[in-house]
Amino acid sequence: MMRLPWFGFRSPSTVAEAAKILAAEGPQAMLIAGGTDLLPNMKRRHQTPATLVSLARIEALKHVANGSGTTLGAGLTLNEIVANPAAREKYAGLYQAAAQVATVHLRNMGTLGGNLCLDTRCNYYNQNYEWRKAIDFCLKKDGEICWVATASKRCVATSSTDCAPALISLGASVRLVSAKGEREVALADLYRNDGIDYLARRPDEVLTEVKLPQATGWKSSYWKLRRRGAFDFPVLGVAAAVKTARDGTVEEARIALGAVASRPFLTKGGELLAGRKLSDEAIAEAGAKVASAAKPMDNTDLDLYWRKGVVAEFVGYALREIRGDDMRATRLRIARYAL
Ligand SMILES: Cc1cc2nc3c(=O)[nH]c(=O)nc-3n(C[C@H](O)[C@H](O)[C@H](O)COP(=O)(O)OP(=O)(O)OC[C@H]3O[C@@H](n4cnc5c(N)ncnc54)[C@H](O)[C@@H]3O)c2cc1C
Ligand code: SF4
Repeated sequence: MMRLPWFGFRSPSTVAEAAKILAAEGPQAMLIAGGTDLLPNMKRRHQTPATLVSLARIEALKHVANGSGTTLGAGLTLNEIVANPAAREKYAGLYQAAAQVATVHLRNMGTLGGNLCLDTRCNYYNQNYEWRKAIDFCLKKDGEICWVATASKRCVATSSTDCAPALISLGASVRLVSAKGEREVALADLYRNDGIDYLARRPDEVLTEVKLPQATGWKSSYWKLRRRGAFDFPVLGVAAAVKTARDGTVEEARIALGAVASRPFLTKGGELLAGRKLSDEAIAEAGAKVASAAKPMDNTDLDLYWRKGVVAEFVGYALREIRGDDMRATRLRIARYAL
């Protein structure tokens, strides 16, 4: 049985108090929300924080505000996002992403903030301490070599959050609060393509909320590839959001990818659609453009060439769903349950 290492535990009731504790304790302290990622990681000795600062008692992180756009507190659980009518009706891509994270039990504990700050993953890293010791560890934790790309000075572990690509395609931004002040950053800019230093968030900052712009005229969709229809992390995530005029001409489109780099990112595929109708030809062109940006590594489930090979197809599923095609049978085949 894997045991947790010893740690101190603080449970503030306000964001200001949490930020003050982080500032006082320094990088040896870590935030914990649902703990569904951090606690298994601590058992495997990936992270061994001296102090855990729990966000569970901070009611302010659970708010939802609907105005011109929608603001979602970082402490909302993924099941609360799934049950939120605004998410379901206005931001379908987010709803579909949240509904496909892990299992219903994990979504009852796992939060939006924790999902956006999720550690990167790799077959050589997500192993227990003894397994990792047997291969002399790796760059990301305790070692000196990357077993996936042995000549690389950079860890290429995979970003595996489902909600981030969906929210990036929706044009979301996040609020980061520390004892020194606060700032708002576009979600796309929160991520770095570095498997170790994968967030532009400072260790003393709390991600407090996600802001979504107005959704009028927009439709969105998220498609996830994984081996099993429940439980598994994504090995490819395609998120698309498209704003169309009344006659169906695309005014603006964004297509983001997840699980094919150390960060989720916006591609140039959406730009190809502006000023055109969502015809089969336009969709195929956008799919090819997006696929050219996907760089999956051989460090997660399923063959990397096959994962790259199906990117254009998944872009097609997302755009055809947005166009209004009936994709329910394809959803059932891919996700193995209806959304
Ligand atoms: C079996 C299994 C399957 C899973 N499958 C998926 C999947 O398919 N897709 C997926 O996306 N995830 C998956 N997960 C990961 C995880 O359950 C979810 O991503 C969940 O949303 C994480 O949220 P949490 O609140 O539990 O995060 P925690 O574990 O509490 O925290 C995760 C990280 O985020 C930081 N953090 C948390 N909240 C904040 C905040 N407000 N501000 C700043 N930093 C913060 C923590 O310090 C930690 O580094 C899976 C996990 C397991 C165990
Ligand atoms: S990508 Fe390389 S350095 Fe990063 S976790 Fe995997 S083996 Fe380690």
